[in-house]
Amino acid sequence: MQKILFLCLLIVTTNTFAASVQEQMAQDPKIKTAIEELVIANHILYDQNAVDGYGHISVRNPANPNTFFLARSIAPSSVKVEDIIEFDMSGKALNGDNRTAYGERFIHSGILKNRPDINSVIHGHAPPILPYGLTGTTLKPVYHMSSFLGEGAPIFEIRNFAKPNPDTDMFVSNIELGNALSQTMGLQYFVLMRGHGYAAGGDSIKKAVFRAIYAIQNASIQSEAMKMGQVQYLTPGEAAISQETIEKTISRPWQLWTERVKKSQP
Ligand code: MN
Repeated sequence: MQKILFLCLLIVTTNTFAASVQEQMAQDPKIKTAIEELVIANHILYDQNAVDGYGHISVRNPANPNTFFLARSIAPSSVKVEDIIEFDMSGKALNGDNRTAYGERFIHSGILKNRPDINSVIHGHAPPILPYGLTGTTLKPVYHMSSFLGEGAPIFEIRNFAKPNPDTDMFVSNIELGNALSQTMGLQYFVLMRGHGYAAGGDSIKKAVFRAIYAIQNASIQSEAMKMGQVQYLTPGEAAISQETIEKTISRPWQLWTERVKKSQP
């Protein structure tokens, strides 16, 4: 009997955590849209190899710029609406939600706090981008799809910021490292993390997803091109002009990516 009571309590408690985000969804259509898009984005990023069992995407609360939504600590491909937690900009979970959170939520809080122009952040470890954080070869736009890379992606060197010891587990696991990552990103939308991965941002979920996917494709193409000879990158002028054109069209691949993940779901 006691065991059953405990289980009931556990179910009620678990639902309470999820409910407060779900209550907000019920009250505000903008929040409902943002969270439903966030769930689809998790699946798309996995389907497009921008994340694997690790990696995550956040979105700023459209009704409160000082909080953001991010899944609890599970693989992106498994994320559902009820897995979403609301956090403040110090990375603290709100609404009494004490489910296990991603240890690297400070990547999201750091960038969202310091960049009011960014409303969605992605972090992953996609292999094609890794060499560009290791070798001193700059990740630069080789085609119009990744023109947002501008004059090249900056590299976050965790050793320069880790305290007291520069040797760490490589994780951005506190506010200070989240802030340092955001400083390294500067005014750009993509930052490499040496020996770890990347963070991408956009003013919308769709734009952040678009950039993560095409930064990774750029890395693969750039690596292939470098084997063949001297690479002709987009000039800064070409990058700026083509970014404006291409980013007006991101609904097209978004629709395709969404259809793909919806088809693969039971
Ligand atoms: Mn990571």
